[in-house]
Amino acid sequence: MIVIENATIATVDAHGTEYADGHVVVGDDGRIAAVGPGRTETSGRRVDARGCLVTPGLVNTHHHLYQWATRGLALDETLFGWLTTLYPIWGRLDAEIVGAAAGAGLGWLALSGCTTSMDHHYVFPRDGGDVLEAEIEAARGIGLRFHPTRGSMDLSQKDGGLPPDHVVEDTDEALAATEAAIDRWHDSSPDAMLQIAVAPCSPFSVTTRLMVEAATLARRRGVRLHTHLAETDDEEEFCRKQFGCTPVEYAERVGWLGDDVWLAHGVHLDDSAIARLGATGTGVAHCPSSNARLGAGMARVRELVDNGVPVGLGVDGAASQEVSHLGAELRQALYTARMRGGPKAMDAREALRLGTMGGARCLGRQDHLGSIEVGKLGDLVMWDLDGLGHDGIDDKVAALVFGPPARVALALVGGKPVVERGELVNADEETLTVEARRAHRRLLGV
Ligand SMILES: [Zn+2]
Repeated sequence: MIVIENATIATVDAHGTEYADGHVVVGDDGRIAAVGPGRTETSGRRVDARGCLVTPGLVNTHHHLYQWATRGLALDETLFGWLTTLYPIWGRLDAEIVGAAAGAGLGWLALSGCTTSMDHHYVFPRDGGDVLEAEIEAARGIGLRFHPTRGSMDLSQKDGGLPPDHVVEDTDEALAATEAAIDRWHDSSPDAMLQIAVAPCSPFSVTTRLMVEAATLARRRGVRLHTHLAETDDEEEFCRKQFGCTPVEYAERVGWLGDDVWLAHGVHLDDSAIARLGATGTGVAHCPSSNARLGAGMARVRELVDNGVPVGLGVDGAASQEVSHLGAELRQALYTARMRGGPKAMDAREALRLGTMGGARCLGRQDHLGSIEVGKLGDLVMWDLDGLGHDGIDDKVAALVFGPPARVALALVGGKPVVERGELVNADEETLTVEARRAHRRLLGV
């Protein structure tokens, strides 16, 4: 039992219940046993949360962990320019590099208030070893709940795609490896620490056949679907030229709209596309820092939410936004919404909701994650808002979102601490740094 008390609590439940001075109890089963105002007599390890805000753990809905090994490159490129610079480097990835990059990326995410992360891995060099296993081991090493996707690319330059020939897979091999990953790793239980999704990379790097058959495979196996969609004008142009339609029309044509699908970005969407996403319950992983870094545009998050689209937040790969800090993404999401729609377009509580319940909905875990309610999993974060950076902002939710990135005083995953007093519990930050540096240098040959 862990008993957190003297806490300001934002539960992010359906009513937006908050307690100015309350308690949360996480039981030995890893689930929330109590939440409410004042103190509790329940016995257990007691944590004094004076000066802190307790929220649900943040959920990261889009990432490419391997990219930690290629940060700081192609700094002034569009998405297509950035990709064509980096593809040849990524073609040299192996399990050791991916494991080190994933350890760094996930450790950093945990320190930024994330308790559940997905990963979209889609580069599988033929002699690179088991890169998916490497990142799963890295997630176990940090202690985060993990939703890696088995990605894929099978449309290279010789067939009209963007990636060079040597970084793509054969269509049938990619599908077989995806099903093997589900067999080996996917846990469908409510408490699952590890779930697999199926994730062909993007319209410009994947054949129509792979999109169609990936959707069939995922639905046959009862797992979720993820891909990039409507990220840039270049992609829109590619789709109009190749398929004679918009990216969302293409997604619909290949069976990719539905409440078991979440799409990364969704920046360039017209009213009818947003209405289709809402009507079908298709989710969007909003990645405002990555969109800004690549100059891709600003997603219409206000309209997406108003049309009933499940919207979560994602840091996206560390090579397309070097900050990769999920706590900071709350503010970036709020700022992006306001740059589009003015100061009423989003408030702090809605930004927090996107980062928690919105993310849980994207990953299909809304019944067990995303809010602090009795019976849900004990994944929560205690943010330290007592220092110079937040002092004087009396509304603690506003302090978290509008203020500088806050230090994590305690992060629990299923009631188990993964961060305490701003430090990782299960891993050593210095070791992660050294291993990631070595991976970067070996990959770049520097
Ligand atoms: Zn991405």
